[in-house]
Amino acid sequence: MLSEAGMPPARVRLVASLVRGGEIRTAAVREAFLRVPREEFVRPEDRRDAYDDMPLPIGEGQTISAPSMIAIMLEEADLRPGERVLEVGTGSGYHAALLAALVGAENVVSIERLPGLAAWGRRNLDRAGFAAVTVITGDGSLGCPERAPYDAILGTAGAPQLPPAWPRQLTDRGRIVAPVGLSRTFQDLLVARRRPDGGLDLRRGTPCAFVPLVGREAWPDG
Ligand code: SAM
Repeated sequence: MLSEAGMPPARVRLVASLVRGGEIRTAAVREAFLRVPREEFVRPEDRRDAYDDMPLPIGEGQTISAPSMIAIMLEEADLRPGERVLEVGTGSGYHAALLAALVGAENVVSIERLPGLAAWGRRNLDRAGFAAVTVITGDGSLGCPERAPYDAILGTAGAPQLPPAWPRQLTDRGRIVAPVGLSRTFQDLLVARRRPDGGLDLRRGTPCAFVPLVGREAWPDG
């Protein structure tokens, strides 16, 4: 078990509160949150708020999600070391770093549509020690077929429906965890699991509010 000694007290307190609240349920997700420095993934003026459990602005109208929401998504994804993961919506790179802590940085591909954020997320990941994560600029509503298949696809922006390309890019035991809903602002967290017959078991979970997924198989721009 990872020792909390020497960790910033605010990070330790946040992790303890996510365990108490039930958002963190497993030792693996707890250790990932203890390992990844959220202060390296927020704007300099927000560093003192890095361990408050809330979304923060990251520029270009986008946000880094609240740690509790990310914890729920990571627990639903049920990741094992060595599994290959696609994250749609790199933003700051924080969620990608947590995925890297769970499965290994070389197994994480993260795609971001806004070039400025992709570059910033890339720099944050490098500085925080996750240089082996692959960051791609592009429309993740189409998935990222050139790196498929994935054991899990995590969407971090709200889609109007499950993008049809995503299930096609899963392995046999693949999972999708993503906010989906008919409003640009409010969604439910969709958890999908591929069945042996190739179909998907779908479950609608926690209500949530993500920025919109904008792209060919998602919301139009503007
Ligand atoms: N995961 C990020 C983090 O840890 O900071 C936060 C993601 S933010 C809530 C959603 C991100 O999805 C934004 O950076 C946005 O530009 C991006 N996005 C929206 N539509 C996209 C698309 N079609 N493909 C890739 N990224 C997209």
